[in-house]
Amino acid sequence: MNDIKLALLGSQGAGKSAVLVRFLTKRFIGEYASNANSLYRKRLSIDGRQLSLEVFDPCSQSGGSRCILEEPVEWADGFIVVYDISDRMSFLGAKNILHQIKETRGETCKGEVDIPICLVGNKQDLCHSRAVSEEEGRSIAQEHKCHFQEVSAAENYLEISNLFTKLIRHVMEH
Ligand code: GDP
Repeated sequence: MNDIKLALLGSQGAGKSAVLVRFLTKRFIGEYASNANSLYRKRLSIDGRQLSLEVFDPCSQSGGSRCILEEPVEWADGFIVVYDISDRMSFLGAKNILHQIKETRGETCKGEVDIPICLVGNKQDLCHSRAVSEEEGRSIAQEHKCHFQEVSAAENYLEISNLFTKLIRHVMEH
């Protein structure tokens, strides 16, 4: 059995818990009280391989404070960095987190750093009040050589399931 450890990072309110709960339960939980670090476990099978997935949802990383981020960044095999497409500050927070992941992990790796990361623009259903274009999200993802996906935890399970699967495959090949 392979053990896969993922960390969910992003500004408070971006929808990290909603994305994770949607993936784990297929449901959208409107209000989710998350004021503590949470670790979720799930067994799943991908490409015929049995996996034990652990997902760390740290309580909050408003602004991406370095000391709060260090622990999950060192612990995880892969990262889901979430921002809210209707909140520009959360996008700036996500950019900051991408830098910090590269910085922290880059220090311990020699040469080219290939870290499995997916940048996720959540709340796609709020596109009428969009503050970050899809192109901008995609271009930051390209710059950081990571996957990119816009999703709506409120409306769509399939895209969220696909992004977890894509990231887990990347971790397994890593
Ligand atoms: P976290 O602090 O990043 O874990 O964010 P939460 O998961 O607690 O979500 C913050 C707020 O955004 C909650 O009120 C959620 O109901 C709401 N939310 C999360 N995802 C979506 C989404 O895809 N669309 C909409 N409209 N609201 C969402």
